[in-house]
Amino acid sequence: MHFAPRRHAYRMFALGVPLLGLVLATAVHAAPPGPSESSETAVQSASPGYYRLTLGDFTVTALYDGHTRIPQKILHGLGAADIEASLARAFLPAAAPLNTSVNAYLVEMDKNLVLVDAGAANCFGPTLGKLRHNIRAAGHRPEAVTTILITHMHGDHVCGLADEQGKMAFPNATVWAAKDEAAHWLGQDNAGGGSGATEVARAALAPYISAKKFKTFVPPEPILPGLLTVATPGHTPGHTGYLFTSRAQRLYIWGDIVHSQAIQFARPEVSLDFDHDPRQAVATRKETLADTAGKRLLVAGAHLPFPGIGHIRAEADGKYQWVPLEFSQQLPPPGLPGRQGQAAPLKPGP
Ligand SMILES: [Zn+2]
Repeated sequence: MHFAPRRHAYRMFALGVPLLGLVLATAVHAAPPGPSESSETAVQSASPGYYRLTLGDFTVTALYDGHTRIPQKILHGLGAADIEASLARAFLPAAAPLNTSVNAYLVEMDKNLVLVDAGAANCFGPTLGKLRHNIRAAGHRPEAVTTILITHMHGDHVCGLADEQGKMAFPNATVWAAKDEAAHWLGQDNAGGGSGATEVARAALAPYISAKKFKTFVPPEPILPGLLTVATPGHTPGHTGYLFTSRAQRLYIWGDIVHSQAIQFARPEVSLDFDHDPRQAVATRKETLADTAGKRLLVAGAHLPFPGIGHIRAEADGKYQWVPLEFSQQLPPPGLPGRQGQAAPLKPGP
């Protein structure tokens, strides 16, 4: 997704982050209750925003960055009555903005700690920007992240690369993105359009580029053993999915293939203002849904309801249904099969 960046987004770093840190610290830390923890602030956070599962020898942690709302007027390709019918089917009110989660994923792969997307930081207001807090809540440190894979360079996926001083929020990580995506947003011809979104992307990537810790690839180039890249253009020119495979179990992290689960699984033809090339975005979504449903792939999406992990079921007339995995607190030692919600073992294949 891409939102119009807030004016003075970078000035907000200085104001927003200390406050946000204070709020979240009171909600999660296990210290004895103090005055602040008995306040409403402590109650407003339902739970730490992470969810863990195993995938063969890998451990995957879904990380919640926060939520935002999509106004219905930015949806295209479907009449108002059909949108209302889709929302009613999902038990959602007719006229309300669409609630949308912003998720990122951390994958422990042997010696590598791989983060897919970096959240919105303070670029889009206080309902987002919780990623680094939730990395710590999940028992990891931002300093331990070795590799960051960017699905695309909209602010809700890259702003979190930089800290409140504009420095690397993940100081030991190398950031990867598709060559086409980098050319669009960072290239000399300023193909990103010179918009606020371009400035946001450039500011987020700048510290890594300066430190020579930014690299590009051309899909389907693999980045690490068990990690393939998949070109999924349309939402942005170099939009990329990442396929993780361990012991024949697979997880496909697809970025922004679906922004509204209430509408776009049943009506994949719906595009958004955020789509760089709406026709291509729709074609890519239809292809991706058919492919992931047909292969029974476990899928994770940046804007699916947190933790945003599940399967896709094909229905009649080119429609699909999202089937989220079931919650479980049981985590077997890596490599042991049988956990509910774990990816079904699949024969190796494309
Ligand atoms: Zn997005």
